[in-house]
Amino acid sequence: MDEIQNKPRVGSARKVARQLLKDVGVSNPPIMIKDVVNQIKKSSDLSVYPWAFGDDTDGIQVTRGDSATIGYNQAQHRHRQRFTVAHEIGHFMMGHTNGNSIFDLNSKKPEEIEANQFAAELLMPLAFLNKEIKNGNKNVKNMAQIFDVSEESIWWRLRECNLIGKM
Ligand SMILES: [Zn+2]
Repeated sequence: MDEIQNKPRVGSARKVARQLLKDVGVSNPPIMIKDVVNQIKKSSDLSVYPWAFGDDTDGIQVTRGDSATIGYNQAQHRHRQRFTVAHEIGHFMMGHTNGNSIFDLNSKKPEEIEANQFAAELLMPLAFLNKEIKNGNKNVKNMAQIFDVSEESIWWRLRECNLIGKM
């Protein structure tokens, strides 16, 4: 049983992100985190704060009862902050009551994988990526600008979705 419970719910994490984008009504990148947070606030008590963490923490998520608080490292680059908040929202939406994060796209922990997959689908929706590629965009730097994410995130996402060969 443990083995099944410990498997990351990748499909579910992506689905939750897609539904959220649909609820927000996003039709084009970049995805605005503020809009996403405001959408969640309609049904949940969620607060998001910049915070003076040390270098070793990107963000935290703490849920107590019905209210959740997300803090993100105010000293970091905007791209990293966006991914951190998206990641912490992922922890919240996937029902993880605690998230303490350092940026690690290659984490093997199920909860971290779920949060990363959620964040990736939220900030770089597969449908939007496919559209870019279909329109002939083969430039990762340009894609990073369009999605307002780091080039590292775009590369990781393209590899995850097996899209590199299609570019
Ligand atoms: Zn995390």
